[in-house]
Amino acid sequence: MVDLRKILACPRCQTKLNPGGSKGRCPKCQFAYRYQDGIWELLYITDKETKRSQNQYNHMHQKVFEGPQDGSYEILGRFARGNRTLDIACGDGFIEQFSEETVGLEFSLNALKNAQKLGAKNLVLADSHHLPFIENAFDMVINTGNLEQFANPNLAIKEMARVAKIQILTVHREFDLPFAPLMRLALTHFMGVKNQPIETPLRWSALEKMITNAQLKIIYKGFWTLPVNLGRVFSFLPTFKNIPSCFFVISRK
Ligand SMILES: [Zn+2]
Repeated sequence: MVDLRKILACPRCQTKLNPGGSKGRCPKCQFAYRYQDGIWELLYITDKETKRSQNQYNHMHQKVFEGPQDGSYEILGRFARGNRTLDIACGDGFIEQFSEETVGLEFSLNALKNAQKLGAKNLVLADSHHLPFIENAFDMVINTGNLEQFANPNLAIKEMARVAKIQILTVHREFDLPFAPLMRLALTHFMGVKNQPIETPLRWSALEKMITNAQLKIIYKGFWTLPVNLGRVFSFLPTFKNIPSCFFVISRK
């Protein structure tokens, strides 16, 4: 079981925090944080793109999202259970439904409130680019289906490497077809087919470079057949199942 009070650090300068009550300031840079309604608030956003994405995402999570009913969250929740696990960009807390003590981190307060209603116990409002934890605070960090939604995935992976020994990543994949980026641009930019504020799927070469740049060793590389649900935008399109839509990677320090 993780005791958050013992592992919190300032998201701005990474100084260890020693929260006594329900609010405080970083002893070094005076960053203000608080604990309110069961959620630790340590949100520190430094770039406009993330700020914009946060606003849109928070608006989208006024109601609970429907996650893929393919069993993937149950599997990840069972990996998480019993370990000191951090779930980065936990959304409405689907992993926490199978592992309630897992620390769920989000930049959307609405999503965290949904997660809380569904049973999550350890919730932190923070940006994935500036994690409010001390080095090696966790055994494992899970980041499922949202690295491609970050303004700076390089920095996010470096932060995952800093706070945990093992990283489990599911990343939406850019297919190795010459026309794939063009097709995506046409769909997202001109036709408005978008599920998330930022969508930049990655090719393997780009993802591998990010992981190795963060001084991590890739232990396992495979595919995850997360359903592709264009039907969310175009109701006449089916949900595509059983296609290798995501990379599934396990890395460690
Ligand atoms: Zn500080």
